[in-house]
Amino acid sequence: LATMMDVPVTKVIGTCMNLGVMVSINQRLDAETINIVADEFGYKTEYVSSEVIDAIAQDQEEDRAEDMEARPPIVTVMGHVDHGKTSLLDHIRKANVIAGEAGGITQHIGAYHVTLESGREITFLDTPGHEAFTAMRARGAAVTDIAIIIVAADDSVMPQTIEAINHASAANVPMVFAINKIDKPGANPEKIKEALANMNYLVEDWGGKYQSQEISAKKGVGVHELLEKVLLEADLLELKANPNKRATGSIIESSLDKGRGYVATVLVKDGTLNIGDVVLAGTHFGRVKAMFNERNQRVTSVGPSEPVLILGLDGAPQAGDTFNVMPTEQEARDIANKREQLQREQGLRTSRHITLDEIGRRIAIGNFQELNVIVKGDVDGSIEALSDSLIKLSTEEIQVNVIHKAVGQISESDVMLAAASNAIIIGFQVRPSMSARKLAEKEEIDIRLYSIIYNAIEELKAAMEGMLSPEI
Ligand code: GDP
Repeated sequence: LATMMDVPVTKVIGTCMNLGVMVSINQRLDAETINIVADEFGYKTEYVSSEVIDAIAQDQEEDRAEDMEARPPIVTVMGHVDHGKTSLLDHIRKANVIAGEAGGITQHIGAYHVTLESGREITFLDTPGHEAFTAMRARGAAVTDIAIIIVAADDSVMPQTIEAINHASAANVPMVFAINKIDKPGANPEKIKEALANMNYLVEDWGGKYQSQEISAKKGVGVHELLEKVLLEADLLELKANPNKRATGSIIESSLDKGRGYVATVLVKDGTLNIGDVVLAGTHFGRVKAMFNERNQRVTSVGPSEPVLILGLDGAPQAGDTFNVMPTEQEARDIANKREQLQREQGLRTSRHITLDEIGRRIAIGNFQELNVIVKGDVDGSIEALSDSLIKLSTEEIQVNVIHKAVGQISESDVMLAAASNAIIIGFQVRPSMSARKLAEKEEIDIRLYSIIYNAIEELKAAMEGMLSPEI
């Protein structure tokens, strides 16, 4: 406060004492005291929150119905390691260079878009895997419209396949299953469909609602059909955007390039981005000097669902940050500064995640309808038993959802999912990994460890009833 008012700290402390408030130099003042002290020095106080700042950044006129146009779907490929994510993305990137479009996709900018023979377009996020997907989501970016879950038919539904499915489900992102490597002698697609059915994901051939396609990512077999199915899924979503307004979207990647300064790949979700626009992303901003597409061609404007590399920002925003185009550089600078100040204040902490201690209070004030839980344990049997019991704790007011359950240590990816889905993590006879513990501390995710199922259930129940005895 003293720094902001440019007065010596001792004067602020003195003023507090005159008010009868005894304070030390590193003590926090409450809002009321701040107001009075600031007033004494002739300052007015204004409180800002990140929500208010974001709302100012996003402020635009409401869309008119006649401005809304269909936009291409944005797709992520997820699945177990070595099941073919990269091969599929590579194949699509190489195969779908449409006639008349000069040059193939030469740049790796983090996303690319292809035009199919039918003339329809799809945008792919070029960093496969649910970890990237959920890390973006934890930063508030709901980028993906549809997930392709890839499973190798010569293998089986593996732990990371299940993770991928649960991460997509937790985000409410529809899935299309790609059953890969059908060119291999040992491939058995039916076995995969059966395993999915056992998890309650019934594919269409088995009378369910999930589309699936047998493919060989390596040979390109079935990929066209897969993409058609993705488009079918997209039709159901009726994805629309308004190209006639200032652009908004997400940062996909960013870095410092020796020759070009800060470069960032952005994905436009709505509106149109033009050269000369003032882009604001997180605490950074700048006027767009040049834009390049994934074919390394200069472009002057990009519309909804299109990825583009931009030059001109004054720093490297984080992947998953949203960006907004601001009317003036002054407004962008103002918000960027305020955000920076807030970040410094909060030490980058985000304490909006739920904790067991807070559940009862939130339920009591009635603004809490769903409790998301991630269950990790040492053996399958106990995980199932615990999950079932937790779900049964649901009441009329609050639904308990087990958004992910699996055997094994609590991992970074679990913590990310908890951060993205506002969940708590319950470990039964397992502990978090070192990196997961660190991330959980930073993201302020509540991890609870138990060795007796009964205790876990009782504690959650007590929390939901607002009767949890305070942690000692
Ligand atoms: P990722 O870890 O999911 O990205 O998997 P990759 O795309 O790197 O594939 C792992 C391995 O499987 C590589 O050696 C690929 O060549 C191979 N592979 C991927 N798709 C196919 C396929 O359709 N058929 C065959 N035979 N091999 C494949």
